[in-house]
Amino acid sequence: MVKKVAIIGGGAAGFFTAINIAMINPDIKITIYEASNHLLAKVLVSGGGRCNVTNAIYDPKELIKNYPRGYDFLEPVFNQFNSKDTQNWFNAYGVKLKTEDDGRIFPESNSSQTIYNCLTHQCKILGISIRLKSRLKQIEFKNQQWELKFKNFDTHADFVVLATGSNLMMYDLLRSIKIPIVDPVPSLFTFNVKQHEFIVLAGISVPNSKVIIKEIPDHEEHGPLLITHWGFSGPAILRLSAWLAIPLAEIDYTFTLIINWNNYDIELLKRQLLIQIKDQPKQKIANWIGHGLPKRLWQKLFIQMGFKEYLNWAELGKKGIDSILKNLTCFEVSIEGKSTFKEEFVTAGGIDLSSVNPFTFAIENHHHLYAVGELLNIDAITGGFNFQAAWSGSYVAAKAISGIAHK
Ligand SMILES: Cc1cc2nc3c(=O)[nH]c(=O)nc-3n(C[C@H](O)[C@H](O)[C@H](O)COP(=O)(O)OP(=O)(O)OC[C@H]3O[C@@H](n4cnc5c(N)ncnc54)[C@H](O)[C@@H]3O)c2cc1C
Repeated sequence: MVKKVAIIGGGAAGFFTAINIAMINPDIKITIYEASNHLLAKVLVSGGGRCNVTNAIYDPKELIKNYPRGYDFLEPVFNQFNSKDTQNWFNAYGVKLKTEDDGRIFPESNSSQTIYNCLTHQCKILGISIRLKSRLKQIEFKNQQWELKFKNFDTHADFVVLATGSNLMMYDLLRSIKIPIVDPVPSLFTFNVKQHEFIVLAGISVPNSKVIIKEIPDHEEHGPLLITHWGFSGPAILRLSAWLAIPLAEIDYTFTLIINWNNYDIELLKRQLLIQIKDQPKQKIANWIGHGLPKRLWQKLFIQMGFKEYLNWAELGKKGIDSILKNLTCFEVSIEGKSTFKEEFVTAGGIDLSSVNPFTFAIENHHHLYAVGELLNIDAITGGFNFQAAWSGSYVAAKAISGIAHK
């Protein structure tokens, strides 16, 4: 008898699972049930409309380092399907990809529509059915089959793949069938400052910052930092928000951010200041360029330190040296709240990975029930890693399902 697979959710993970099952085993009847009226909505808006499909880090051991949640779970998954496989897969189905200098991989067209077109076209030629406006409301395993209740109709399937992304209603439904859920919290966000004295510098970035949260000092991040109208953003901040997503939620996004503006070594910087005092005693400190920061940022910090515009190196004194060292290496700013990072935001939390098999993506203690994509407690920093987790998990689940569905 023809086996029926129900894929719940028409996003990246649902499509990739459906297509790969159909490619490996064309005899299976596959239907994607999508709650909304739109398919692949997040793919279309992803990467600022360009869709950062994956990343040029190929080694599974290196790849997993980009996942604050999922780190341990993903290595065997990437051993089965990694970012190189993603590239090959899309190339094989007509999507030309390009790698940017920072390793992010996009369609050559610079348009997420290309990925949408590829996935929907493959679905069509493989005969995969799609039902829109079909929100799963209830799920129960009865008489060796899954009974599925949607808003307006009921159906049944031999295999069910849950690919509903981060969805609170779905978490409740899954809890009701005893699937453990890790409570969701946002990840990948920017930091807000209430009295933002640096607002005049919005748009200025430094390439080589070091950032730490005073209340959670174990984790530091390095890299570009951007001053925005609301506070601080840029890769270093986004990475901090992802790795510390859970403790930051616990302190309600109210904390002190410590910025070392140019990842200065404090001793080296001190020596540099002493050389300035010795060699350039009459020069104005305001005109110093040895800090390596954008001029406007240095001028703002200089005023912040309470120095007079005409102060020269000979007049600086020990207190002045300490003030420069503190403000350049240990600048403290109070953060109150967060903002969504528009290009990419994800949720930490979801199905507890201890109940998922990394070689099949089957959910433990539930016959022929699988989960893929953001519904799982897996999330990454920016760079195409979130999609990569969705492609890899979906491929592994598809292979496992096709392998047993014909038996
Ligand atoms: C603005 C934005 C930009 C992003 N850019 C990038 C990027 O460039 N690179 C990257 O790697 N990641 C990016 N991400 C993250 C990435 O989009 C997600 O990790 C990925 O889309 C997850 O895919 P998914 O299929 O698991 O979930 P989703 O894409 O969320 O799809 C789940 C689908 O399930 C449907 N659904 C939910 N509940 C039900 C139900 N009960 N019944 C039926 N259907 C249901 C939903 O309507 C949805 O269509 C971005 C995210 C956002 C929000």
